Amino acid sequence: MSVVPELLSANERYAASFSKGHLPMPPGRKVAILTCMDARIDPAKALGLEEGDAHVIRNAGGRASDDALRSLVISEQLLGTTEIVVIHHTDCGMLTFSNDDLRALLAERLNADASAIDFLPFRDLEQSVRDDVASIRRSQLIPDEVPVSGFVYDVHSGRIFPVE
Ligand SMILES: [Zn+2]
Repeated sequence: MSVVPELLSANERYAASFSKGHLPMPPGRKVAILTCMDARIDPAKALGLEEGDAHVIRNAGGRASDDALRSLVISEQLLGTTEIVVIHHTDCGMLTFSNDDLRALLAERLNADASAIDFLPFRDLEQSVRDDVASIRRSQLIPDEVPVSGFVYDVHSGRIFPVE
C-alpha cells in the first residue's frame, strides 16, 4: 500500500498553518550542507535550521558526486551561499557493500549492467569525509575562499563531530 495518502494529509495540516510564503530564494544563513539521505538524519532539527536558511543537498552517503557538485556550484554561484558543510554519519548504509556487491545484485535481480556506475561506497567513515571535503576544495568550480568543513553525525547520540 502506498504511503502517499498519508503524506498528502500531513501536507494539508502543514499548509493550514504555513506562514513562510514570503521567504526569498537565496538561503538566509548562506550555507550549503551536503549530507546522506539516511532517514534517521533530520538536518533541520539537528542543526537548528528553518525554512529559507540553508541548501541541504542529500544523496546516498552525502558523497561529493558530480551531481552534488552541480548543486553546490548553483548554490554558490547563483544563490549566494558562501560556506559548505559535509556531514556523513555512523552506521551508514554505504559502509555495508562494495561496488561489486551492488553490481552483482543488479545483474541478478534486474539483469542490468551497472559496471560503469560507481556507487561511491566507503569502508572508512572519517576518511570518506576527508575525501569529499578535499574533492570539493580541489574542484575548479568551487572558489578557494569558500570554507569547506567536514563532520560525522552520530545516529545514536544525535551529535556531530568535526573531522580534521
Ligand atoms: Zn548514510
